[in-house]
Amino acid sequence: MEHFRSDAIIMRVRDHRESDLIVSFMTRDRGLIRGIAKGARKSRKRFVNCLEPLTLVLMDYHLKGERGLYLLDGCRLVDAFPGIREGFAPLSLASYVLELLEVLFPANVVEPRAFDLAKATLGFISRGADLEKVRVLFEGRAMALGGYAIDLSKCCLCNRKYTGKGGGVFLPQKGKLSCLNCSAPDERQPPLTAQAISGLRAVQGGAWESLRHLDLGPEDLKQIAHALKLHVAYRIGKRLKSTRYL
Ligand SMILES: [Zn+2]
Repeated sequence: MEHFRSDAIIMRVRDHRESDLIVSFMTRDRGLIRGIAKGARKSRKRFVNCLEPLTLVLMDYHLKGERGLYLLDGCRLVDAFPGIREGFAPLSLASYVLELLEVLFPANVVEPRAFDLAKATLGFISRGADLEKVRVLFEGRAMALGGYAIDLSKCCLCNRKYTGKGGGVFLPQKGKLSCLNCSAPDERQPPLTAQAISGLRAVQGGAWESLRHLDLGPEDLKQIAHALKLHVAYRIGKRLKSTRYL
């Protein structure tokens, strides 16, 4: 029998039969996994404080053999991200983070960078970072890792290469950039300044550290946030329940 030990983020926990729990968790090395914690409702000895959604744990588990179901042997709490539970706004954003990740990286899709992003994002939220900024960082990077990066290399209508000078227009239906000659910005297809485009490129590329040095003014941040909100809504919005609380 093969046993595994993974860094994991607890996604969902629900009751199963009289004494068990069904736990879904995102691992760094094996993607999203669902497992049964036998007897965990009656005795949490093997799972002290760690079967709570939105916690980072070290999980021990093995494959039960049938239908890809796992049995959980035990786990150790690594980070409970306590700041997340201190308010409705951080908790809503953190729930949205998990939900978007579940849609973008379902079971059998292994993307360690998505796990690293989730861990970093929950850490930022817990430590009280600016939630609007955290949301932008997370959404842009998660969508890019999931195969939905916004193409910022050219105008999608006239194919003119975007050289980094001047602004553009984001077209949510296409998930692409248009130049200002081809499209006029309005509420449904928002403008992006040159700064916003370069910020969005950095976010999509996962430049977490350099973002601190990136000159992102509040207006640029607002533009990126608006574009990403429309982008997520067009690509996968209907499948997300938590967005209504944001
Ligand atoms: Zn054009």
